Amino acid sequence: MVAEGTAIGSCPLGVTVLGSGSKGNCTVVHYGSQAIMIDAGLSFRETKRRLGECACLDGVEFQGILVTHEHVDHITGLRLCSEKLEAPIYATMPCARGIRKKDAKIKQVATFVAGGKFTIGPFTITPFSIPHDANDPVGYIVSVDEWRVGVATDIGYASSTVEYQLKECDALVLESNHDMNMLAASNRPWGTKQRIMGRDGHLSNVSTAELLEHIVSSRTQDIVLAHISLDCNTQEKALECAGQALSTLHRNDVALRAARQFEPLETVWVGK
Ligand SMILES: [Zn+2]
Ligand SMILES: [Zn+2]
Repeated sequence: MVAEGTAIGSCPLGVTVLGSGSKGNCTVVHYGSQAIMIDAGLSFRETKRRLGECACLDGVEFQGILVTHEHVDHITGLRLCSEKLEAPIYATMPCARGIRKKDAKIKQVATFVAGGKFTIGPFTITPFSIPHDANDPVGYIVSVDEWRVGVATDIGYASSTVEYQLKECDALVLESNHDMNMLAASNRPWGTKQRIMGRDGHLSNVSTAELLEHIVSSRTQDIVLAHISLDCNTQEKALECAGQALSTLHRNDVALRAARQFEPLETVWVGK
């Protein structure tokens, strides 16, 4: 179904990262007046405030909230966002169990299988498995018509599935979590450092750059670096590292941005 007055193919696909990082993750993918949310890791109040800051999201109708995994920075505002925005929650079955363990008041979760494909309104969703210490966590490919957007954070390492799915995307929202030296020098407990660096943890700037060298294709136009650590990384370091990968590929024409923790990032338009 397409909103009244909006012909298929006549409007671009928008990707607005409302916030990203260990204090809350929330991304909106929108097409005309219809939208889906990927993760609701900000409080509803904060989500509403940030939605209000984005003129292009004024009046959009949320068709669903897709959850990547049940860690608190991805589901803090899930129940209220789902209720207030009247948007059903979607997650894998093990993730749904994890969500209900953390918030027993959440009753309805529509479940899917990682690797399957389903549609919500105009959006075709392909969830794929990611290596992370959560219940059956996933990243998402969201497509409308020929346009394809990949959203993947909280990735321990770039598995072949991750690499395969993120190829041939027009826009990517991709984790670039930490700078190895800053993480090593931080005063975090050794166990925490091990977890973050491990195969079920998070992607370092260098790992993200290596992954980009494999997945950036001729159709890649926009990359948003996400889940950037506030104390073990800087936006500059993440951008520099990914920028070097793009230089190696002779793709300095790709628009490279860093998502913010406390403010929405300008909307990326695909197909404009
Ligand atoms: Zn996270
Ligand atoms: Zn996580």
